[in-house]
Amino acid sequence: MYWNEKYECMPRDELKELQLSRLKNTLERAFYNVPHYRRVMQNAGFEPGDLKSLEDLKYLPFTYKKDLRENYPYGMFAVPLSEVVRIHSSSGTTGKPTVVGYTRSDINVWTELMARSLMTAGIQKNDVIQNAYGYGLFTGGLGFHYGAEKIGATIIPISGGNTKRQVMIMKDYGTTVLTCTPSYALHISEVIEEMGLKPEDLNLRIGVFGAEPWSENMRREIEGRLKITALDIYGLSEIIGPGVAIECPHKNGLHVQEDHFLVEVIDPKTGDVLPPGEKGELVFTSLTKEALPIIRYRTGDISRLIAEPCACGRTSVKIGRIEGRTDDMLIIRGVNVFPSQIEHVLLQFGETEPHYQLVVDRVDHLDVLEVHVEVSEKMFFDDVRSLEILSKKIQNEIETTLGISVKVKLVEPKTIERSEGKAKRIIDKRKI
Ligand SMILES: [Zn+2]
Repeated sequence: MYWNEKYECMPRDELKELQLSRLKNTLERAFYNVPHYRRVMQNAGFEPGDLKSLEDLKYLPFTYKKDLRENYPYGMFAVPLSEVVRIHSSSGTTGKPTVVGYTRSDINVWTELMARSLMTAGIQKNDVIQNAYGYGLFTGGLGFHYGAEKIGATIIPISGGNTKRQVMIMKDYGTTVLTCTPSYALHISEVIEEMGLKPEDLNLRIGVFGAEPWSENMRREIEGRLKITALDIYGLSEIIGPGVAIECPHKNGLHVQEDHFLVEVIDPKTGDVLPPGEKGELVFTSLTKEALPIIRYRTGDISRLIAEPCACGRTSVKIGRIEGRTDDMLIIRGVNVFPSQIEHVLLQFGETEPHYQLVVDRVDHLDVLEVHVEVSEKMFFDDVRSLEILSKKIQNEIETTLGISVKVKLVEPKTIERSEGKAKRIIDKRKI
């Protein structure tokens, strides 16, 4: 089922023509209205008139998060504030927040993209969507909200937190779709159990989870516990919010909404564009945004392009699931490690729970990685000997997979902090 078949299934040559004409407009809009873009394009010796084909994109300079911060709050906007109907921003926990703005048309585009995304996930008019993404400055809540209303589904704007109430509402209001971060979905599944309920007591059938990297084994875990189809959604506020890309039920990559965004994968060190299949950093260029046109934005997210046609009939290129972020990639004694790789290994063991934390420290000038993982209730009361064997098994498996030595610490059930939003997976004690 498509929301907008014309664009979702557009022949690729037609799509490329559309992209090129929209890219020209975007470059002009940015060049003539945003001093930052005019300056960096002039420095790069590339002005909007120089664009002859989509391949020329590679000559344009990248845009970084720091560019948005340095132009805080409205310096990257290409329209006067009187044209802006909505502001969102990041939490700013690691510096000045990044502020993004939307014109009326931008909100309409975003709503359209979310409507497509929900339909791609198999959600329909008669679904009841419990939206446990945060409402407010974060784009998750309102992004899903507008899309759900657009397709005529019933949305419950519950936002995150108060998990027992989430479960009560889920049961009493007949929720069929849950939208939140994957780590929160897992926590909700635990509370369902604690409240003496079973998935069969609920009407849940689909979950659309995003805003943090998660592994394929985590998908299986959530699907098994909640008895649902769990799909991955991708987006970030700098690009538009959720709805930039979404998985279809074939679960083989996330369709990028290519009539509105150009996607590239680059080598994060050299900046070179990589061919489909190769792993690197995702870079996006907006094609239709008015308030905040964005050119070659470095997302920090690690993924790859999947160019093979999809069985669902959509013609867009797909991205593989996000394997990590360049900024939460751990470098342990020179080896690159992403939390999601460790998660994937941990979830192969039936005796552990899908709750873990990675503690990194430097002892005698050497990096030490300690993996804390919860054991199941049953296992915890087993004898010490079998816990030791399990710990050794996990250690071996991680060491074989990642090629680095680790320590494994099995911890009591429910001792690792639960998340109602994005999970905190890494504690880095190194003073670097
Ligand atoms: Zn598909």
